[in-house]
Amino acid sequence: MNVLPLPMNVASLRPYASARSIRKGDGWIFMDANESPFANNATIDAWPPVNRYPDPTADVLRDSIAAFYGVKRGNLLMTNGSDELIDLLVRSFVRPGRTVAGLVPSYGMYRVSAESNGKIFSSVQLKNDFSVDEKAIFVALEGADLLFLCSPNNPTAGTLDPLLLKRILGGFSGLVVVDEAYGEFADAAGIPSAIGYVKRGAENLLVMRTFSKAFAGAGIRLGYGVADPAVISVLLRTKAPYNVNVLTQAVGLALWRKRDVMEENVRLLIAERERIAGECRKLGCTVFPSVTNFLLLRLPAVLSARKMYDDLIEKNRLVVRRFDFIPAWNNMLRISVGSPEQNDLFLASLSRLLP
Ligand code: PMP
Repeated sequence: MNVLPLPMNVASLRPYASARSIRKGDGWIFMDANESPFANNATIDAWPPVNRYPDPTADVLRDSIAAFYGVKRGNLLMTNGSDELIDLLVRSFVRPGRTVAGLVPSYGMYRVSAESNGKIFSSVQLKNDFSVDEKAIFVALEGADLLFLCSPNNPTAGTLDPLLLKRILGGFSGLVVVDEAYGEFADAAGIPSAIGYVKRGAENLLVMRTFSKAFAGAGIRLGYGVADPAVISVLLRTKAPYNVNVLTQAVGLALWRKRDVMEENVRLLIAERERIAGECRKLGCTVFPSVTNFLLLRLPAVLSARKMYDDLIEKNRLVVRRFDFIPAWNNMLRISVGSPEQNDLFLASLSRLLP
């Protein structure tokens, strides 16, 4: 099919699978990508001029975010979604012949970014109870320059033990990335962020956050990394010159300044999450404890996840994510917490489909 000769790693690449590339147009209820159901949390008064390039380092945003966390502007890098940062990290820190390590199941782009940059993704499977196999991590780290951890983890919804993170930081000479895409939901549960370690001087740690989840800004593509200034300065050298556009910088700032709205929405989503979890448990599902805006459910054996997935699309135009990992983790759905009406629709379908 390819007319051009391709590098092997690109020819054999398994791309990131997003339902959003298939299901287009209006009328869909998206509970598949862990976005916020709350649109337009913040608006801007005036359309910023677009004839000039944006500030290459988005300093107004960096200063606002730095002030909130009690770090310096030089501890921060703004990116075009955290997806850009994932790719930038692989390009910037992984030497030829060295690998990228990560856990599975976790966010799929760590592997895609590693492989599209010609690096081997050395994965360590979580244990059956979704806890981390520390010994196996250290084995995988032997050839690695970069480790991706995700806390809270997508799709398992729990957080990483901070003491384990401390041991990894101490025992690994490469860069440890903690992806806190769902960090604001963990903040609300009183779980400390890994940003604390950056503040206390960890030199081989970068913490990623995003505007795509709690801040309800997935459409503007804005993420950021918090790390030691030496790490940030490497990334500033390798990034594209104007990676965060003018409109994104303006809307991002407006969203950031409406932190109170974000926090209120997080409270509402957490209450809804717990309501759905309770109902699903009553209906016989295994619900994994979540500190995020999504739930991982294992359906009772009498109802196949595929059947429910198809039924939700056919009858309600409602899209969720289906997961079939190893046998111990089969028949699963991951649902993003939606508005109360959307959640009711999901729950009604579940009780209708169960015998
Ligand atoms: N990390 C995790 C754990 C995610 O779940 C996602 C989005 N699904 C991302 C990163 C990507 O976020 P962004 O929209 O900032 O690129």
